[in-house]
Amino acid sequence: MSSDAVCFCGSMRRQKKCHPDISRESLAAKMLTLYSRVDTLIISYYSKHKVKPVCKKGCSECCSTLFCVSIVEFFLICREMIKFDPKRTAQVKHRVLQAINYLEKEQPALLDYFKFDHSGQNFNNMSLRIYELSKSVKIECPFLTGFSARQSTCSIYNVRPLICRIFGTTYYTSFEDMYICSRIGTNNRIMDCGPSTIDIWDSFIKDILTVNYNGASYRGSVYPLIYWLYLAAQDLENPRAYLGSERRKKYFQMPYIEAKQKILLRHIL
Ligand code: SF4
Ligand code: SF4
Ligand SMILES: [Zn+2]
Repeated sequence: MSSDAVCFCGSMRRQKKCHPDISRESLAAKMLTLYSRVDTLIISYYSKHKVKPVCKKGCSECCSTLFCVSIVEFFLICREMIKFDPKRTAQVKHRVLQAINYLEKEQPALLDYFKFDHSGQNFNNMSLRIYELSKSVKIECPFLTGFSARQSTCSIYNVRPLICRIFGTTYYTSFEDMYICSRIGTNNRIMDCGPSTIDIWDSFIKDILTVNYNGASYRGSVYPLIYWLYLAAQDLENPRAYLGSERRKKYFQMPYIEAKQKILLRHIL
């Protein structure tokens, strides 16, 4: 592939100017390509159906719910945090520790559920279990900036996780009455205009999260974003060092099939 090739992330810029440190076949590139595909799919779906999505800039009530993300999404966020100034990083860390402190005191069962190693478990079931357990829990995402649920914005918008892109804009075929937020209400209201969450989720699980080996299927760990940040809390001030050469190699450079095998089958190979 020529070094002048257009970047895989959908920016239409040259890769060497856009994502020079991420190889085209890596897990990180797969994730960024999926982000771009999903964003385009959502825009074209709404445009074709001539409706406006209810979600819009500044609306952020859903940013106070707990949701699961994969490790590669988390590392892409860490890569973004390299650009943060120290004050901003300190704020994020403070909010993470505050949130975990709150969970320790008020929601110990939920925190215990995070601590359990969920690798290999059904991702949909786990995400829904966390959704159920945390329905009444409001923890503002540490990347949210602004002053109210209707005026805040995402400070890592370009690398926000997949769930942040599809929540409220796509619909869950099997959960028609799932409550989304006070603006949308239940899933039923977006069923006629958004693409299916499950279709998007399937390619995420197949391409990013799962590896098949000897007839069995292995699935990577997922945790709520706040918990990934907590696990890395000691290193958040220096995300460049936290990512380090080994993580960069596996997640940002190595061909994704090989990387998934190394990551997901590490206990048996
Ligand atoms: S899901 Fe609801 S709260 Fe979130 S951005 Fe969309 S309309 Fe706003
Ligand atoms: S990453 Fe951004 S969009 Fe997602 S919950 Fe946090 S602030 Fe909201
Ligand atoms: Zn790019």
